[in-house]
Amino acid sequence: MTVYLVGAGPGDPGLLTARALELIAAADVIVYDRLIPATALDGARADAQLIYVGKEGGGPSVSQEEIQQVLLERGAAGDEVVRLKGGDPFVFGRGGEEAELLHEAGVPFEVVPGITAGVAASAYAGIPVTHRDAASAVAFVTGHEDPAKLGEGGTGSALDWPALARFPGTLVFYMGVRQLPAITQQLIAGGRAPDEPAAVIQRGTLPDQRVVSGTLATIATVAADAEVRAPAISLFGPVAALRQDLAWFESRPLAGVTIAVTRARAQASALARRLRSLGAATVEAPAIRIVPIDGPAPEITRYDLVCLTSPNGVRLLFDRLHRAGHDARVFSGARVAAIGPGTAAALREHGLIADVVPTRFVAEGLVDALADLPVQRALIARAAQARDVLPAALRQRGAEVDVLALYETVAEPISEPQRRAIAAAGYVTFTSSSTVKFFFDTVGDGLPERTRLVSIGPVTSDALRDQGREPDVEATRHDIDGLVQALTDDVASRA
Ligand code: SAH
Repeated sequence: MTVYLVGAGPGDPGLLTARALELIAAADVIVYDRLIPATALDGARADAQLIYVGKEGGGPSVSQEEIQQVLLERGAAGDEVVRLKGGDPFVFGRGGEEAELLHEAGVPFEVVPGITAGVAASAYAGIPVTHRDAASAVAFVTGHEDPAKLGEGGTGSALDWPALARFPGTLVFYMGVRQLPAITQQLIAGGRAPDEPAAVIQRGTLPDQRVVSGTLATIATVAADAEVRAPAISLFGPVAALRQDLAWFESRPLAGVTIAVTRARAQASALARRLRSLGAATVEAPAIRIVPIDGPAPEITRYDLVCLTSPNGVRLLFDRLHRAGHDARVFSGARVAAIGPGTAAALREHGLIADVVPTRFVAEGLVDALADLPVQRALIARAAQARDVLPAALRQRGAEVDVLALYETVAEPISEPQRRAIAAAGYVTFTSSSTVKFFFDTVGDGLPERTRLVSIGPVTSDALRDQGREPDVEATRHDIDGLVQALTDDVASRA
């Protein structure tokens, strides 16, 4: 029965602390703000109560009093309550007030610091807020002041503008992008050098981070011309100039590129993570869902060859074997073939090293790779809908072939916002022909011509042509690494 005041960091989900994730996973109640990472609540318990208290279009949807009421009631009721805030809870987050209130009410609380925007957005913009040669101090300042209060010499302000102007170090203003003209004017009036380097960072650490640079004298105009909007921090000090050399975020291979990923949900996340780590913004558009087909475990010992054609197939085959009390030992008399490295990796997780993995990861490749292997009875464990290439080829060689359908792939409906996000993406990736079919069934002709289509290999490319679309990029290596490589090369060649 504790209320945790938890910082969620500036927006990049990777900047959530381990402690924050642990508390989110355990919480009964999570009271959260708008500026938390989009995926911050993914790890919450399915039965946790999630209460949104952010601001929508400027005005608070829930008053500070109501928020405090929830914290007190749920905390006193013995629930584990996480109060999740953007950045750090004690830096312009009203966390101090909430802690005071909990203290007065005798409700136990803990504070989990988060990475504050002033430090994080600056770092992602390539600006160290302190520097041995350029800044020995840094001040975090609220720019959220009524311009009317910034009267002559800033006399009506809660801030001591002449003192801020003299501050011997970096000034980082939170909020207040709209107040930039008044802020810079006050600082110059207080004697700060008009040619001091300045930067404004919008949506720092997020894939669509934008940075504009100028001087104390010019930055207000530069930011207005670029239509910089909240959330943004404004930074003044010599360190702002270091960005010229240190801007690393924008120089990653997929920076500024939005990619829609169409795989079954579980695998889509892994691919999307890879693309994001290269700087891309991703839209997860899972076109297919895997629906397992129930049935008895096959008698593996009857076969001298077992072929697996997908990681899902491996997982579901072992589910059936485990339910029947069997393990990898039933494969001792059989050769095991995997269609590609992903399937081989899934087999390894179950203690089996594939005897055969073709160099081309399609059914034809597997047929070639099996050419010299004597086969009498083969089991092909795979999806219900699949091409007949492999069973037909083995039968032609005189083998007896059983095909075991382990799962069906069905279309996953997509939401309207998802549909719009997909249409706005620069690239869509396709990793199987069934994904292509289901994706176009759902999206229809809602995909603009300019969207670049990336295919994992020839079979998927043909499926795209069946839909009347020519793939713009085809991977030379038909696996996820190959797909990522081909996409990255395409982005580089068009830069
Ligand atoms: N507690 C938060 C600050 C809350 S005040 C923290 O420690 O970061 C909200 C202000 O934070 C915004 O107006 C903006 O100035 C800043 N901010 C929050 N997220 C930001 C981001 N991703 N990029 C730039 N500024 C951000």
